[in-house]
Amino acid sequence: MAKANFEVPELKEHLEVPKIEPGAMAHLETFKAKPEFNEALGFPGELSENWQEQAIDAMGDMLKKYRSLQVYMDSCVKCGACTDKCHYYLGTKDPKNMPVARQDLMRKVYRRYFTFGGKFFPKLVGATDFTQEVLDDWYNYYHQCSQCRRCSVFCPYGIDTAEISMAAREIMDRIGLGDKYSNEIIGKVFRIGNNLGLPGPALEDTLEGLEEDVFDETGVEVKYPLDVKGADILLVTPSADFFAEPHVDGLIGYGKVFHEAGVSWTMSSHASEAANFGMFIGSYENMRKISQRVRKAALDLGVKRIIFGECGHAWRVAYAFLNTLAGPWDFLDPDYPVPQHILEFTLGEIEKGTLNIDKSQNDDMVLTFHDSCNVARATRMGDKPGGQFEIPRAVIKAVCNNYVDMPEDTIREATFCCGGGGGLLTDDLMELRVKGAMPRMKALKSVTEEYGVTHMAAICAICKSQFTKVIPYYGFDMDQIVSVHQLVSNALILKGQNSEDEDDESEEDAA
Ligand code: SF4
Ligand code: SF4
Repeated sequence: MAKANFEVPELKEHLEVPKIEPGAMAHLETFKAKPEFNEALGFPGELSENWQEQAIDAMGDMLKKYRSLQVYMDSCVKCGACTDKCHYYLGTKDPKNMPVARQDLMRKVYRRYFTFGGKFFPKLVGATDFTQEVLDDWYNYYHQCSQCRRCSVFCPYGIDTAEISMAAREIMDRIGLGDKYSNEIIGKVFRIGNNLGLPGPALEDTLEGLEEDVFDETGVEVKYPLDVKGADILLVTPSADFFAEPHVDGLIGYGKVFHEAGVSWTMSSHASEAANFGMFIGSYENMRKISQRVRKAALDLGVKRIIFGECGHAWRVAYAFLNTLAGPWDFLDPDYPVPQHILEFTLGEIEKGTLNIDKSQNDDMVLTFHDSCNVARATRMGDKPGGQFEIPRAVIKAVCNNYVDMPEDTIREATFCCGGGGGLLTDDLMELRVKGAMPRMKALKSVTEEYGVTHMAAICAICKSQFTKVIPYYGFDMDQIVSVHQLVSNALILKGQNSEDEDDESEEDAA
């Protein structure tokens, strides 16, 4: 079990609502961005003397621009339904991690400057001046929200704390108080094309290496093409897929599926990143700039379709915003959705019978599936309601014999966040990440004990990275996390693929 310099929550039989521990996470503050990282995104480098005035102006601007924000500020009736729904509150016991308390950090400032009662009788209506102390709380606790939207599912008024948290982060960016992790990454995408800062030639080498690996394993020349003009499909995938496990096993799977489907496809060195951290900092302008890279790549390469790889928030940005941010997409083939998810494509091929599947190749595993927040609660997939829940499960069940769902109140729409989403996947927040993962770890433990589950599949780069890092704190092994297309890859028998007998013979020959 991984060692921690903080208390790792115990996985009890039932998920208990903890007794509050005020200030339990007040010490945890993610690193602030250096001036050059803020400036690269069009924000002031650092806080100025009149930051308070700037922040109130920015809030006023956002209240006008996003009417939903004003509705959220005005409509909470303090019913308490959301208080025990946040994984960070359940894992940390800090009452400021209750969704309603997180909202109130903004609401009390809103009331002070934007309501009659708050201007004249602030104490009576719970309004507060925007002081340095309040700003410090904003910085800490709006960076302890993964924008997962679980709380909004249970709010009778549909108040979306994720939207409030995004707005708070944008206000902070607009006064020069950005967080290092997200802002540095967005800057890398602008300069180089992906979160990792992997330049085109390095990417090309990596993909050639993958082709060699797949050829060595199967004897089939599966291509992982880059910048191929005139290809039909542009695959936009998270850069984690290019090298890290279990992500890269998923990319291997996408390539095998495209190969067997007989379609022409390519990736792009210009849009070599599906992730869009502009969403995490609430900045539509930065989200738009990143999305425009996908448009440029599609136009330059002359593709007819765009498919997104396994990435939760990237799919949310693509599904919900791509048309507004980078459309119109009238130059693409209207017979296909824009964009399409790789799982829709793969399920389509499975249903057409194009893929030769041997499910027994995954018989060494008993699988469960983690619904990623952004996919589950902010998008759909395919053309039927609930496709975002059913399509991943249908693909897993088509390639694996052993599948079990985790308890119903922890999956689909009620899924618990992995604990690392929303721009929090940074080591300076490890304590929060480990504690916030507790509800998911508890659900995983229950199916491990009851049904012998050995592996948990995911379709989000952040979930996979987060889980591989935090599950050892709960006594699991990091290789228990798998990509869904890794399972597809294992089971897919390519045309002309070496049989196991041939492999055994060649090993004997070599000996
Ligand atoms: S959006 Fe998710 S992380 Fe944020 S307060 Fe709600 S439940 Fe917690
Ligand atoms: S569930 Fe909605 S209305 Fe009730 S306290 Fe939470 S945010 Fe307010």
